[in-house]
Amino acid sequence: MLPAPAAGAVAECVPVPPTVMLHARQAHLNNLPRLLDWLAQREYTPVTYRSLWDCLTGAQPLPARPAIITIDDLTLVRGSGNFAFIARMIDVLLERAVPAVVGIITQPVVVCAGGRLVQLQEQDDALWDCAAGWQARGIELATHTTSHRNLAEAGITPDDLRYEICTSAELIAVRTGQPVHTLLLPFGNGAIDSQAGRLRASITEACRAGGIGIVVGVAGGRIPLEPAPAEARPVYFVGRVGPMADAYDGIFWEIAHWYH
Ligand SMILES: [Zn+2]
Repeated sequence: MLPAPAAGAVAECVPVPPTVMLHARQAHLNNLPRLLDWLAQREYTPVTYRSLWDCLTGAQPLPARPAIITIDDLTLVRGSGNFAFIARMIDVLLERAVPAVVGIITQPVVVCAGGRLVQLQEQDDALWDCAAGWQARGIELATHTTSHRNLAEAGITPDDLRYEICTSAELIAVRTGQPVHTLLLPFGNGAIDSQAGRLRASITEACRAGGIGIVVGVAGGRIPLEPAPAEARPVYFVGRVGPMADAYDGIFWEIAHWYH
C-alpha cells in the first residue's frame, strides 16, 4: 500500500507489476490454467492496468505482489477471426475470477482473396454485448488501436495517431459505456527509449487527448512509476513479456526475474 506522503514529500514510486502478453494461440490457451496456478502458488494477485492507474493517481493502493495478464488482438467486427478463441481464454480467467486486460483492434485490416487488403468496420453487436459482460466481471478492455498500424512508422502524422488511438478508444467507450484508459502498442512500438520508459511525444499527446494514461510496450518499461494526480494527465509507459512460441515455460522464469 502506498504510504500517505507527508506535505511537500515526493510520493513513493510504484513498481511496474510483472506482466504477461498472450495471444490467441493454442499453447497460450492450453497453458493458461497452469499459469494461473503458478501465480496463485507464489501469491501473486492479478490486477489490471486500470488498478495500476488508480494506484498511480492515488485513488487506490495495489495489492501486494500484483501481476498483470494481457491478451492481444481481439476483434469484435462481423466475421471476427479470433473472438471465439479468445472467449475460451477469457472463460478460463472468469471461472477463477481472475482479472485481465484484453487489447481490441476496433477496425482490423485483413487480407482477402487475391491478396487484397480490406478494413473490417462493421461491428458485431452480439460480440460487443459479450465483451461488455466480461468487463462487468473484471476484464479491462484496452485499445490495441483502430487498425494495428505500427505507431512508430516513418511519416505517421498526429492525425493518423489520433485515428489509431483516440478513435478506437472512443468506439470501445461508446460500445461499453466505460472509458478506456490503456493502449497496448501494436508490435510494442512507440517508445523512443523503452528501457528508460520514454514514449514518442506525438504518441503521448494523442494518448492525452484520448484519455489514455497507460501505454504498454513489450521490451523495457520496468522503471518504477512516479505517482501523479489524475488532473495532471500523466501518460505512463510500461513493458511486458510474452511466452516464446515454442518454449512456453520461459515465461515463468521471466516473471520470477522481472525486477532483476
Ligand atoms: Zn497486436
